Amino acid sequence: MAESCCSVHHEKVVFFETLKYKIVSLSISLVALVLAFLWNDHIIGDNHTLMYFNPAWIVIVICGIPLFSSAIENLMQKKIKSSLLISISLVACVGLEILGWTGVVSNTHAHSENYLFAGGEVAFLMMIGELLEDVTVKRSRSGIEKLVNLAPKMANIFMNGKFVSMPVSFVQVNDIVLVKPHEQITVDGKIVKGETSVNQSAITGESMPLDRKVNDVVYAGTWNDSGAIEICVLKPSDQTTVARMVELIKEAETKRAPIASIADKWAGYIVPFAIVLSILVFFVSMFGLKIDWSQALVRGVTVLVVFCPCSLALATPTAIAAGIGNASYRGILVKSGQALESLAKVDTVVFDKTGTLTTSQIQVKEISTNIDEKLFLEYLGSAEKSSEHPLAKAIIDYATKKVALPEASLTKSLVGVGVQAVVNGKNVVVAKYDYFAKDNLEEFAKDVSLWESKGYTIVGLSVDEKVCGVVGLFDTVKANAFEAIDDLNMMKIDSVMLTGDNFSSAKAVFDTLNMSSFKYSLLPEDKVSAIEEIKGQNHHVCMVGDGVNDAPSLASADCSIAMGAMGSDIALEVADVALMTDSIEKIPGLLKLSKKTLFAIKRNIIFSMSVNLIAVILSFFGLLTPVLGALVHNCSSVFVVFSSSLLLLVKDKKSNKPYSSTKK
Ligand code: ADP
Ligand code: MG
Repeated sequence: MAESCCSVHHEKVVFFETLKYKIVSLSISLVALVLAFLWNDHIIGDNHTLMYFNPAWIVIVICGIPLFSSAIENLMQKKIKSSLLISISLVACVGLEILGWTGVVSNTHAHSENYLFAGGEVAFLMMIGELLEDVTVKRSRSGIEKLVNLAPKMANIFMNGKFVSMPVSFVQVNDIVLVKPHEQITVDGKIVKGETSVNQSAITGESMPLDRKVNDVVYAGTWNDSGAIEICVLKPSDQTTVARMVELIKEAETKRAPIASIADKWAGYIVPFAIVLSILVFFVSMFGLKIDWSQALVRGVTVLVVFCPCSLALATPTAIAAGIGNASYRGILVKSGQALESLAKVDTVVFDKTGTLTTSQIQVKEISTNIDEKLFLEYLGSAEKSSEHPLAKAIIDYATKKVALPEASLTKSLVGVGVQAVVNGKNVVVAKYDYFAKDNLEEFAKDVSLWESKGYTIVGLSVDEKVCGVVGLFDTVKANAFEAIDDLNMMKIDSVMLTGDNFSSAKAVFDTLNMSSFKYSLLPEDKVSAIEEIKGQNHHVCMVGDGVNDAPSLASADCSIAMGAMGSDIALEVADVALMTDSIEKIPGLLKLSKKTLFAIKRNIIFSMSVNLIAVILSFFGLLTPVLGALVHNCSSVFVVFSSSLLLLVKDKKSNKPYSSTKK
């Protein structure tokens, strides 16, 4: 939660910080203030004792309590925040009033100057400001809250022969759960009965419904549009994609942007400075400008009020919350304010190839082997079974259509190269062809060079260290990759492709897309050095990958985006930003949003500091009263929050609305 320096927000909400307390006390205070305004001139008349019973007391007490309590609490934690400034001003107003009663202030006879009214109004305005802040900040966070509310609460679990509605925390892996039409899907699992169309827009930002049938995976938090389905649970309720997203986005709020700490630091200096300054103003006005000491005190008090850095403290967190909120509506999970700030500075985007720029619908095009083809496919498919790589999926799909795959044992991933396994007692390696010694490949050299010229990805298979076949696979470039690269080019952001694949396959993709440069045949650690090199040339690098074989490079870039996070734990965990689907075309829009967020932060900071400065100067010359000062101060806070909330309206050019509609 964004924390204004005048308000206090804790895990447990204290009664007088609730909306209810604020609204009730503001209503009472308003009436009391009107009475207080009329008190001296129209109500007391000659009855001087009535001056002690000014209704402004009521306002000072009920609107002042939250301020005092916050000031004291902060002081006990050795924090000087601006609630202290306002509290001091209130005490000063009360002090001036009492001095007035004793006749000290005007040096004539005892009477009321109605400083109480001024104090009451300051406290009243502070509370109004806080209320407005609460409401606006809440609006900025509504995107995030919507996501939190997405997590289903109850599920229909099959138990003792019937479906029973139970809290989702009771769901266990392998339970069967029923979801009726037009209900929210409650678990991550595989459909075992029925078919339907599913609307995933709430999580992915994409509004196209998807057809889902038996054996398809569906996700908690999405909506079942048409048919009743029974789902076999794959994950406990606290590990579903939506539950992880909620957890990450909650964490995102606590990981602050570096710019936030700068603003906080400033705010920390400003408060003590304000106290010193107001004392200075008092003395300079009295001795330098030779004005009445009570007037000098009023100027000092006004300085305290206007110098309160509330708007400065709000400048960053509100903008970050709105930026992250907007992104989450688009199906993009930004995991920290720091990530958003880093994205804003990106001038080079590095893409992984397979699964990132190319579709996951890779096809096996050719096979060449010197052993029985069925046996070859058994070795090939079995060895790939444990791999997450998009190539492995294509190979398994292809092989299972032709043969039954035996179980493999001792499978080991050769990271960035391929896999190794024992199949039917033989030691099998499936890997990129240049992993094998050249003379071992000789027999297939002709196929390899032909396939290379076609831009195929080529994988070899060895049994007991002897290569006995090669496979040519073809992956097509994603249609939306064109859009993404074009947009980046238009934004003058370099796009670089780093791939572990061979030269010709990489070149084929590079030639179709209008990218800046590419590197090929890289192992995961080579990708890291390539990124370090780009960073070394003073570029701010964002790495985009799918989390397979590219986790180290995601970590080494200045910021990272993982795709297809829905259903992929790696993608959700490793990167700073997770795209819930493969919609790579959303990246330029995200970069623009991050730039706008950073700009909003700077605009907010400059605005709030300028207002403070001008108001202080005006107070020094007696052109602002404490009441006007409080008004200026609050307007500036509200403006900052409002300016941040404009970020919620920033549209992605892909849709007419700022974000695609989510279903209720
Ligand atoms: P990219 O950088 O294009 O995403 P990777 O680094 O994931 O590619 O993989 C590089 C190369 O390693 C692939 O082109 C492929 O030849 C080989 N490879 C990696 N994993 C596997 C696997 N499971 N099966 C076969 N080949 C693999
Ligand atoms: Mg990859």
